[in-house]
Amino acid sequence: MSQRARRRLAGWGVVAILLGGVIAGSHGLRHLKRQGPAELPDEPEPVPVELWVLVIDPGHGGEDTGAVGGGGLKEKDVTLALGLALRRELELRSDIVVVMTRTRDVAMLPAERAALANRSGADVFIALHINSWTGRSVSGYETFYYGNPSDEHVEALTSMEGAAEAEAARSRDGDPLSPWERRQYHRRASRALAELVQSELVSRPALKAVDRGVKQGQFGVLRLTRMPAVLVELGFISNPEEEARLRSEEARRTIVEALADSLLAYRDAHPDGFRLVHGYGPR
Ligand SMILES: [Zn+2]
Repeated sequence: MSQRARRRLAGWGVVAILLGGVIAGSHGLRHLKRQGPAELPDEPEPVPVELWVLVIDPGHGGEDTGAVGGGGLKEKDVTLALGLALRRELELRSDIVVVMTRTRDVAMLPAERAALANRSGADVFIALHINSWTGRSVSGYETFYYGNPSDEHVEALTSMEGAAEAEAARSRDGDPLSPWERRQYHRRASRALAELVQSELVSRPALKAVDRGVKQGQFGVLRLTRMPAVLVELGFISNPEEEARLRSEEARRTIVEALADSLLAYRDAHPDGFRLVHGYGPR
């Protein structure tokens, strides 16, 4: 059972005890007058357990091959294989519900991928990609979250206004957070997840990964998803060594373990997920 499920059940236990106390108390008084035994309160209704939902988005697909290595390896095939293996790994190791944007070799628009994630009520979104460059020597891993470096400055400038607007905008559309607060939350949560993913990947000796760092990017899937989201570039397919590594079962296994470790660490740090904490969304 997840931490969240346990906490929810514990919460309902407290409610049941309090409610039981009130009912038993009032019954007790009545029974005391009648000198009868106190009745036990009814058991509370079973509570549906909220689970933590992750969307895995294997980049590209169908006619959109993504980058292609000198040896012929296609990005779309690597991202799909890694995505499916990551799903298996997480389902073995946790009770996380995994939603895939694609499980087959099909093309999808960024907007379709994001819409699927938004509909699924996900707590976190991760897009898998492989990098490419014109020079064969460039290599390494990098992880993106949504943003534009110049936004940091703009956000700081507008933070006073944003805070003032927050109260006015609250509950306008049933969202307890104002759009400004939501952007701030997204940015912090997405960056925290990106840092976990990146540090797990570059700490695995088997990947010999150059650490290209955590960066902000304007990718469509990051812009359009409404939950903390990251896009990870798992090496350069244009680099012959990294292309060969991406073909190997050992490196794929290492990538999947690193991604699973970072996602589970993030989940453990945010057991209530994105939606419950902020009381917003379809779940
Ligand atoms: Zn890509």
